[in-house]
Amino acid sequence: MNVSSRTSKVALVTGASRGIGAATVLALARDGYAVGINYLSSDNAAQQLLDEVVKLGGRAVLLKADVSQQNEVEQIFLRLDKELGTIDVLVNNVGILLPQSSVVDMDAERILRVLQTNVLSAFLCSKYAIQRMSTQFHGKGGAIVNVSSAAARLGSPNEYVDYAASKGAIDSLTKGLSLELAPQGIRVNCVRPGFIHTDIHAAGGDPLRVDRLSAGIPLGRGGYPNEVAETICFLASDASSYMTGAFLDIAGGK
Ligand code: NAP
Repeated sequence: MNVSSRTSKVALVTGASRGIGAATVLALARDGYAVGINYLSSDNAAQQLLDEVVKLGGRAVLLKADVSQQNEVEQIFLRLDKELGTIDVLVNNVGILLPQSSVVDMDAERILRVLQTNVLSAFLCSKYAIQRMSTQFHGKGGAIVNVSSAAARLGSPNEYVDYAASKGAIDSLTKGLSLELAPQGIRVNCVRPGFIHTDIHAAGGDPLRVDRLSAGIPLGRGGYPNEVAETICFLASDASSYMTGAFLDIAGGK
């Protein structure tokens, strides 16, 4: 990488102890960002990631918090201010899915948990980022990158329609927020990964899901977290300075 293209900006990545979030932290650190690493419970994995960032010569801070809870989100933004500086880039990456099920068998508790973790978190993190980045609040502007899913288009029937609907909400949030924030110096864009090799599929009770379904993917294989992270970095950076409200599918043609 050309040293002159490195940045000294501050980024926050939610749900970043592993998978796409962790790959995004490493890619942002490589590009010079100081990075807030949010996660829920995997202390060892988060610490290892922090160590890797330091090895790259980067700066990062661990921000353990449940980002579906407003008071916890408020606290991590205060810590980010103090420990790394004012946020320039927010990556709303956190997302969960629960065991595969038909809608008829889902109860309210499950559906609310998915919506609260996948959707409410993005609203709350955006709120506190806007307060710091918006020119309306005397900020310098910034970029928000939302992590949706091909599931928003495909619907995930008999697997996780609740998850797919939560990603549909992320798409609508991206569209609305991009228009709301365009006059305030904040760009809002979205990636929609397809089948990516991470541990999220084990949570759905189907750890080999990506390989099982790869024959139906036009590029003939599942994707890897770094392939999503590179696109997130692009949308976070000035290389995408004229893009807002855009959706980039990273799904092998699916
Ligand atoms: P993953 O490997 O399951 O990692 C999820 C991360 O989220 C973990 O770091 C976990 O932390 C954290 N987390 C969970 N609940 C949290 C909460 N309430 N507050 C803070 N952190 C929380 O997931 P992934 O596959 O990398 O997915 C990342 C994003 O990409 C998600 O939005 C997902 O929907 C989306 N996506 C993934 C795929 C795919 O095939 N993998 C496809 C399309 C879209 P702990 O480890 O500490 O619990």
